Amino acid sequence: MTTHILASSFTEWYYESAYVSLLLVFFVIVAFVLLLIYIFLAVKADRAVEKSKDDMHTLKQLRDNIERNRRDIELALNNVFHFNTPRYQRFSDIKGWCVPISRQKLGSLRDNTLPQTLKILEIPISQKTVSLINIILETHRKYLSSVEIYMEQQKKVQAKIIQQYRIQKCMLDGKRGFMKESNFCNPLVTTQITFLYRSPLGRRYVSWPQPITATFLTTVKSYIESRCAFSSPRKERAKMTADLREYIKKRDRYTCQRCGISIRDEPHLLLEVDHIVPISCGGRTELDNLQTLCWKCNRRKGSKI
Ligand SMILES: [Zn+2]
Repeated sequence: MTTHILASSFTEWYYESAYVSLLLVFFVIVAFVLLLIYIFLAVKADRAVEKSKDDMHTLKQLRDNIERNRRDIELALNNVFHFNTPRYQRFSDIKGWCVPISRQKLGSLRDNTLPQTLKILEIPISQKTVSLINIILETHRKYLSSVEIYMEQQKKVQAKIIQQYRIQKCMLDGKRGFMKESNFCNPLVTTQITFLYRSPLGRRYVSWPQPITATFLTTVKSYIESRCAFSSPRKERAKMTADLREYIKKRDRYTCQRCGISIRDEPHLLLEVDHIVPISCGGRTELDNLQTLCWKCNRRKGSKI
């Protein structure tokens, strides 16, 4: 009786395990066949790509063109930011370029971001900077269009190969020398400057990242342009009329705004109207930039602010 039960469970076990092994063998064979099919298709795709030499050569030239444009952006960026100066540092844990700054500068960066950023990076507020930024934006446009041209051409080449050699589309995607758009490194997306404040004992650590994007550069450009627009010195000087001069003196009660001397103290005192921010520094001929000074204070001040 016991032997009988044992025997029957043994046969059950035997058949079951044989069934499992058969199933396993079946799957292994299927996997093997699929692998063979895959290898066959891959080799076929490789051959097809190899045979399309001219098209692949065109694609390579277009890729080289993208790379050239990328380097042009980098050069143009460097002409404005001068990344090779010791002002910039690299840290392994921070992306891009780092600029260590003092606590004071961090504070003014928070209050007055754009002007302060330009000041810390020593980017001059001038027409020249505007044209250098224009060059960056122009090379960036060229770069973007060269990527677009490549992607279009690549699509055409792929379609041609698929049709001509009866290749499955999936066998060409992202392989065989075909690039994805995200594989191209766009400097105006990846360049970043981080202002770093570190307290003397290293306890406090504040970082202020500024990505150098096309939008940022456009903002910088219009800021500089708006500042430069008023610093056409001839225009500003021409605005200084006798009436305006008299108005300012009257407003300041004929008193020097530096030393406090007035025509009450000295009836023949020579009073002059002075630009608080000199025209040469971008100051405007406007009421809040004008003050009355005695001739002595005005000589002493010169063109300082
Ligand atoms: Zn004075």
